[in-house]
Amino acid sequence: MPSIGPCQVASCYRARGREGRLYCDVHATRLGIERRSGNFNGDEERWRLTTPAVAVDREVSLRGLPDRLVAELLYCLQVRTARDVKTRDHRFRQICDRIRLLQIPSLETLEDADLKQTGMTTDLQMIIRGARIALRRLGSSPETERLKDVWDLVIFGHSRTLNFTKIHQRPLREAVKVWAYDELPRRRGRNVASSMQNMIRGMEQLSDSLRLQREDEGQQLRLLSRTDMVSFCNRIAFLAETGVFGAHHRVNVIRYVRKIVNRIRVMGLTGAGQVMEGLPADFALSVEDIPDEPEDTEAGRDLPDEVMRELCDNLDLLEKSSNREFRVATELLIDTGRRPDEISTLPLDCLTKDPDGNLVLLYDNSKNYRLGRRLPIAKATAAVITAQQERVRERFPNTPTSRLKLLPSPVANLEGTKPIGSIGEAHRAWVDGLPDIMMPVVVEADGQLVTKMLPFDKSKIFPYAYRHSFAQRHADANIAPDVLMDLMDHRELSTTQGYYRVSQERRREAVDRVTALQFDRRGNRVWRKAQAMLDSEHVRRAIGEVATAYGICLEPHNVAAGGQSCPLRFRCVGCDHFRTDVSYLPDLERYLSDLLRSRERLLSVFEADDWARSEAIPSEEEIRRVRRLINRVKADLDDLSEEERAQIEEAVAVVRRGRVVMLGMPRVRQPLPDVRPWRLP
Ligand SMILES: [Zn+2]
Repeated sequence: MPSIGPCQVASCYRARGREGRLYCDVHATRLGIERRSGNFNGDEERWRLTTPAVAVDREVSLRGLPDRLVAELLYCLQVRTARDVKTRDHRFRQICDRIRLLQIPSLETLEDADLKQTGMTTDLQMIIRGARIALRRLGSSPETERLKDVWDLVIFGHSRTLNFTKIHQRPLREAVKVWAYDELPRRRGRNVASSMQNMIRGMEQLSDSLRLQREDEGQQLRLLSRTDMVSFCNRIAFLAETGVFGAHHRVNVIRYVRKIVNRIRVMGLTGAGQVMEGLPADFALSVEDIPDEPEDTEAGRDLPDEVMRELCDNLDLLEKSSNREFRVATELLIDTGRRPDEISTLPLDCLTKDPDGNLVLLYDNSKNYRLGRRLPIAKATAAVITAQQERVRERFPNTPTSRLKLLPSPVANLEGTKPIGSIGEAHRAWVDGLPDIMMPVVVEADGQLVTKMLPFDKSKIFPYAYRHSFAQRHADANIAPDVLMDLMDHRELSTTQGYYRVSQERRREAVDRVTALQFDRRGNRVWRKAQAMLDSEHVRRAIGEVATAYGICLEPHNVAAGGQSCPLRFRCVGCDHFRTDVSYLPDLERYLSDLLRSRERLLSVFEADDWARSEAIPSEEEIRRVRRLINRVKADLDDLSEEERAQIEEAVAVVRRGRVVMLGMPRVRQPLPDVRPWRLP
C-alpha cells in the first residue's frame, strides 16, 4: 500500500489516517474535540507545532523539538542516570511536552518565569533547573569559572557556590578571587563552600568599612593605610557590641581578614603589574588586633546528662521521622564524638580490633586530610555498627564490600556507594518535636539567687554538640590532655582545650554539692555546710583521703598506701575512718546486692573448705549496716525539694564521671568513660 504521508503534528510519528487528511486518527479526533470544547484559539499552525504526541507506554516523543534542545534533554537524562537518579518515562514525557509549548531553541534561553508559565509541577521544574546547571558545567573549567563573580564549586570538585559580588572594590574582589583559587585545592570535606564563604564574608565587612568610611570608598589602593584597618576594627567592635553579630563572629572576621590580606601579600599580588599593585605595607592587621576569645563560646557547649538521656531515649522517633541511617548516624555521633562528616562518610568496613583485642573504629579525618584514624569504642557502639553492616549487606548484595558505605543514602543510590547527606535538618526537626527538657537553673529574683526548673534551650542541641559533649565527658573523667587530644584527633593541644571547660572548677562545684550530704558509717551527717568549705579543706581532702568501693577512707596508713593497705580488708561500714556520700549510692547498692549474692552462693552447693566458707560469708551485721546506710542516704534525698534534688543528681553525675573506680585491681591503662553510662549492656 502506498504511503499517504505522515501526520502533520510536529511531535507525531504516525501516518495520516486517510487520503486528504492532514493528521493521524488520534490527532484528527483531538483537534475536533478541542474545537468543540471551545478551548481552541483558531491558531492551527501553532497547535500543530505544540500539541503532544500520542502517549505510548515507555516511549517519549522528542519530535517537534529543535535538535539542540533534544541533545540537551538527553544529556540531562545521562547526567541523572550517572548519578543513580531514576527518571520515569511519564515524567520525562511531560517535560518534553511542556517544553515544546514554549517553542524555544535551547534550555539556555529559558527563564524561570517561562517554566512557571508552562504549568509544570515544581519537581519537574527542579529537573529542568538541574539540567541547566549540568549544561552550564559542561563547558566550564576552573580556568573559565574563576573569571566569574559567582563560582560553581562543582567545577572545582566541591559542592555549592562561592559569591564574591559583595566585595565592592574591583581590585580587592579580584585579589580575593586569586586567594580563593589558590586556597580551594587545599580544602577538603563537605563544608568547603560555607567555610570559605565565611572567610569571604570577612572581606565583605572590610569592603563595607572602606566604602562607608573613606571618601574615595576605598577605590584608591595606594591611599589605604593602617588608619583604615583601625577604623575597620572599631566598626566590627561596634557591630558586635550593638548585637548585629556575636562576639565570636567578631573574632573570626578579624582573623579571616588578617589571614587573607597576609596571603594576598605572600602571593605577590601587591607587586608591580598585579591586581593590588601599590597597596601600602601598613594596610595590615597584626596578631594584637585579634580580640580576645569571648568567654564560654566554644567550651560549655556540651549537653547535660539529662538532655543526652532524653535524646537517647527518643532515637526511635528520629528514625520514624527520617530514616534508619540518620538514627544510626546520630547514635554514632553521640558515642564517638566524631565530626558529622566523618560519620556520614564511613565505609562499610569501619570496625576492627587492636592487637590486644579492643574494638576500634576506623575513620577518615577528612577535614585535615588524615586518613585511616583509629578510635577505641565500646562494645555497645560496635554492636550498632555490626547491625547496620548486616542491613546494608542485605540491601545491596551485589556491590563489593569495599565500595559500600556504612550509611548509604536512601535515595538515588542503586549500588549503595553514596553516603547520606547532612543530618542537620532532620536532626533539628526531631529535636524541635521533643517535649521540653527541664533543667535546674540558678536565676536571680529580688536580689536572691534561686534555683528554678527551666526548659533547656533546644537551639544548643545540634550534631556538633555531641563532639563537645564527648570532649567534656572525657575531660571530666580526668583523661590526660594529651590523650584527649589524640582522641579528638587534634594536632594542637589548644584546639582540644577549646572544647571543654576546665574540669577542676566544675568538679569542685559538684563535690561541694554532694559532700553537703556526706555521712559517716553510722549514717550521721558529717558536712552540713559544705559550701563553706575553705580552699585548704579542698586540698586536704584531695590528698588526705582515698577512694574505696563505696566511699572514701581517711585512715592515714591506707591513704599513704593508695588504698591498698586496709587491715579490715575493706569492711568499711565497720570502720571509723570511713565516709560516704550520695554520689556513692549506686556503689552502696551494688555492694549490698554483691553481699547478698555471695552469701547465697556460699550457703548453697559451693565447694569449699569449712574455714574458708565461714570466713568468706558476709555477716548479717554487715548486711544490716549497709542496708541502714543506704536507707539513711535515701531518706535524706527525699527531704529535698525537686530543684535541689535535680541539682544533686547533676552534681552526682559530674563527680561520678571523674571518679576512677578502684579496688586493688592492677590498672594497665586508663579506662575511657562511657558517654552513655545509663545504656544497658
Ligand atoms: Zn498524529
